[in-house]
Amino acid sequence: MALNLVFLGSPGAGKGTIAQRLCDKYSIPQISTGQILREAAKKEDEFGKKVKAIMESGDYVDDETMAEIVKNRLNESDTNNGFILDGYPRTVKQAELLDEILGVLGKNISAIMVMRASEETVIMRLSGRRQCKSCGRIYHIKNIPPKVEGKCDECGGELYQREDDKPEAIKKRIRIYNEKTAPLVEYYKNKGLLKEVNVNGELPENMENVEKVLSEMGVN
Ligand code: AMP
Repeated sequence: MALNLVFLGSPGAGKGTIAQRLCDKYSIPQISTGQILREAAKKEDEFGKKVKAIMESGDYVDDETMAEIVKNRLNESDTNNGFILDGYPRTVKQAELLDEILGVLGKNISAIMVMRASEETVIMRLSGRRQCKSCGRIYHIKNIPPKVEGKCDECGGELYQREDDKPEAIKKRIRIYNEKTAPLVEYYKNKGLLKEVNVNGELPENMENVEKVLSEMGVN
């Protein structure tokens, strides 16, 4: 059975970091809509410029555009054995559209994992986060430092701080998450797919908590 996971949680909860490790382990793709948008924003075309401005301000890209992106990505054959959706859906409308998309593609969600960390923790994680410009691998200046400062362990690419990880955007992103995305927990609770995971600790402990949930689902 395919392992089709959705990661829900505040910016800075560690969704991307945990997804990268699980995807390596299970050889399934990480579908980070934020990463797809960052790639699009690198292009200097009209769409790229629009997306860049929205992301830097900490707002959300509209639901229809996101559905189109996710539909195309989930239609690729590397998702046949599973995938982790990291950062999608982010609104109730997106969750409804995702149900439609999965229905058309004949896929089911195995579980929705809600990653729980305190606001203090997420602010600390976001403000120290660094990301590889080339491959998107995530680091933290204190908690997950690269072997060589400023360079990605995986590909040697340059590490940078995201514009939206600067203090003003962080506050706004957390506010928008609480307003627009947190209600999704209720949406999925009603569908019986929800798994709560405590990720407030250090990465090895958080990975253990995630793997415990997976093993309870029969995933090894
Ligand atoms: P992330 O890398 O998940 O933190 O996403 C970075 C930014 O990309 C967000 O703050 C939004 O501006 C945009 N974004 C990513 N995923 C979505 C989504 N599902 N819906 C709307 N905007 C998104």
